[in-house]
Amino acid sequence: MNKFDYVIVGGGLAGASAIEGIRTRDDKGSILLLGEETHPPYDRPPLSKKLWFGKTRVEEIFLHDPHFYDASGVEMLLGEKVEKLDPQEKTVATASGKRFSFGKLLLATGTSPRRIGIPGGDLEGICHFRTLDDYLRMHDDAKAGRSALIIGGGFIGSELAAALNLNLEVTMIFPSATLCRRVFPESLGMAVQSHFQARGIRVIHSDSPASISRSGGKFRTETVSGKSIESDLLIVGIGVDPNIGIARDAGLEVGNGIVVDEYLETSHADIYAAGDNAFFPYRALGKSMRIEHWDNALAQGRWAGSNMAGAHEAFTYQPYFFSDLFEFGYEATGEVDTSLETFADWQKENHTGVIYYLREGRVRGVMMCNVWDKLDAARELIRKGEIVTHESLRGAIR
Ligand code: NAP
Repeated sequence: MNKFDYVIVGGGLAGASAIEGIRTRDDKGSILLLGEETHPPYDRPPLSKKLWFGKTRVEEIFLHDPHFYDASGVEMLLGEKVEKLDPQEKTVATASGKRFSFGKLLLATGTSPRRIGIPGGDLEGICHFRTLDDYLRMHDDAKAGRSALIIGGGFIGSELAAALNLNLEVTMIFPSATLCRRVFPESLGMAVQSHFQARGIRVIHSDSPASISRSGGKFRTETVSGKSIESDLLIVGIGVDPNIGIARDAGLEVGNGIVVDEYLETSHADIYAAGDNAFFPYRALGKSMRIEHWDNALAQGRWAGSNMAGAHEAFTYQPYFFSDLFEFGYEATGEVDTSLETFADWQKENHTGVIYYLREGRVRGVMMCNVWDKLDAARELIRKGEIVTHESLRGAIR
């Protein structure tokens, strides 16, 4: 059994960023990175955005060139799923039977896409979109096909519908009345949805798929309300679940993710978690939460790596996220959740302006729509936590 000073489980953005974090404080300690996918760590946002528009090429999405890992003294084992963690012995074991012992361990295990649990939901060819292999397969299928059905109207659904609309007849189906209803207030969701429709995307809202069948290479999806949709491609984006299995089985505290403290350390000393799977104390918001976005994985991975190497600094960063849907783009930070009160300060309605998400009169989240480079102002409003009014917010960020 090989022993490493640092073992990183997970070859995504959080895992790869942890290498940089470790090396800021320890340039000698041995590092092993175990990745379940066969690709070296890559950036995920282009999979539903730039790659489809030819704005970036697959070769460009890898986080580091291959020499980086050698130069950083990192052993990388890909295609290895870690199945077991023994926190007392300080070992991990992979599905293929390899065992490694660690000084410090990072669980950067990310999330898995939720499966669509309806008759026919596991038919071959359906894509629960998440990985580079999913992109490569759908990209090939899109060249051969004419139509796509996308199940889900959240991040994946909306971004892929905009991307596939370039070359395919796209239909979307989702259960709520408006697109991205968890982050877009209703009127914005309606406006973006109308824009999708104007671009030729068929939007079936307030409905869900009931069953899927396949014949002659085509999918046929029957909906709860009785519609029947034929498509060459069938893509599912109905949310993700954190990969907490090995942590839970090892007796670590888990809930909506792997529970970590402000140092990103789990309930077991020397074991850390970062990225999509970490349920962490968000200092500026004064609550624990889990964030499933790129910038959080980047920042937490680095932070956890540096703490594993002895920094012992509380995680205070306020991550942001972003999206582009045709000409509607935004950056957002904090608790961007439409179950809170929202106030929209539009310069151009449902196009350019700032949406504030408020709880008990305090700003908890901010979405800047076609307003750029104002993240720090938004972060400060949230951090200050002062009582505000709609009037005092008007014009606060432009
Ligand atoms: P998501 O944003 O949570 O959206 C899930 C969508 O699926 C919602 O529209 C939801 O409707 C719908 N849905 C749930 N159950 C359904 C069902 N049985 N049938 C039909 N629709 C159903 O999740 P996602 O789009 O799959 O994205 C996955 C992850 O990737 C998320 O963690 C996201 O943060 C991340 N991601 C982020 C970005 C970005 O930051 N720009 C881009 C891509 C992906 P309701 O809302 O009505 O429940």
